[in-house]
Amino acid sequence: MRPIYLDNNATTRVDPEVVQAMLPFFTDHFGNPSSMHGFGASAGAAVKEARRQVQALIGAECDHEIAFTSGGTESDNAAILSALEVMPRRTEIVTSAVEHPAVLTFCAHLEKTRGVKVHRIPVDRQGRLDLDAYRAALTPHVAIVSIMWANNETGTIFPVVELAELAKEVGALFHTDAVQAVGKLPMDLKSTAIDMLSLSGHKLHGPKGIGALYVRRGERFHSLIKGGHQERGRRAGTENTPGIVGFGKAAELALNFMDDENTRVKALRDRLEKGLLQRIPNAFVTGDPLERLPNPANIAFAYIEGEGMLLLLHREGIACSSGSLEPSHVLRAMNIPYTAAHGAIRFSFSRDNGEEDVDRVLEVIPGIVEKLRALSPLRAGDEVPKSFDPV
Ligand SMILES: *Cc1c(COP(=O)(O)O)cnc(C)c1O
Repeated sequence: MRPIYLDNNATTRVDPEVVQAMLPFFTDHFGNPSSMHGFGASAGAAVKEARRQVQALIGAECDHEIAFTSGGTESDNAAILSALEVMPRRTEIVTSAVEHPAVLTFCAHLEKTRGVKVHRIPVDRQGRLDLDAYRAALTPHVAIVSIMWANNETGTIFPVVELAELAKEVGALFHTDAVQAVGKLPMDLKSTAIDMLSLSGHKLHGPKGIGALYVRRGERFHSLIKGGHQERGRRAGTENTPGIVGFGKAAELALNFMDDENTRVKALRDRLEKGLLQRIPNAFVTGDPLERLPNPANIAFAYIEGEGMLLLLHREGIACSSGSLEPSHVLRAMNIPYTAAHGAIRFSFSRDNGEEDVDRVLEVIPGIVEKLRALSPLRAGDEVPKSFDPV
């Protein structure tokens, strides 16, 4: 039986074209991109090409706005720290309660070690940002707003273009973790007020351990990693040439596949969702039914434990994801009742999936849910929210 991979928000398979593009940079073109000789020149040219490919994907104004990093986590940390250093008199950060740990854990660290004040803007039951709370938190004390473009668990999209304009009104920098949104949503950064944006290679069929931070032209920036002058002083350390080349190729392919993502892939996701809700009582889609990414379905199956479900799906050769023993911080922030949040499962699709994957999941899940519910200490009769109408 062919294993089925539906955990593409955790990581994606590297595209074979990406692997092909990378290989020569381990062997023939192994030079240091900063070296003056021919070995360095061919590597340097490839890095420049990759920068242009990433620039095109996000609609940046020029390729120098892209600095390569070790991934989404480093980009998030670097953006936030830079803002605090560039504007030392501003000591507050505005973020959301549902960010990736790459932002939330770093903000908590800064709170502890530097005494900065962190505003964590809450969300509603459908994961939508509380705009009144956001406006109230924006004052001239804020150095940076860091709010994700789309949520990795539910796929909910935040209105970052508008949020950035509001941040600008109080002179704060605006950063967005766009790791999940890049390649799925069209972007034209040059026409927005977004100052910094994080991307990661392995979420878009590129290699792991490579990412980028977009920093708007003319913006002052203090690098997180200090050392040599690589990446125009924004990120020290010899460039990961194979990774950068692979990331560039992945960015080019992502642009070509964006249409597929929003039509065919979205249709697969929608069919899975609809099929599951039809077959299984007391199951609900979490997240904003309107503003969300085309590829993930986060479904709460009331009265089961997600971990048990994951295990049984694994035995059937199906890989997806759930919170660990406790519901995730995202679902808790959404105030989803425990009896439902506990059984939340995320199925995330990509261009590698097909109709047969949906067929298979629809075939096996009803039996699994029935089995788990028969064993569950969580019982029907405990409250299930009426507001979770299936989309
Ligand atoms: C995966 C992910 C990250 C972290 O990226 P890495 O490249 O794995 O460090 C950050 N933010 C979001 C939203 C993610 O999904």
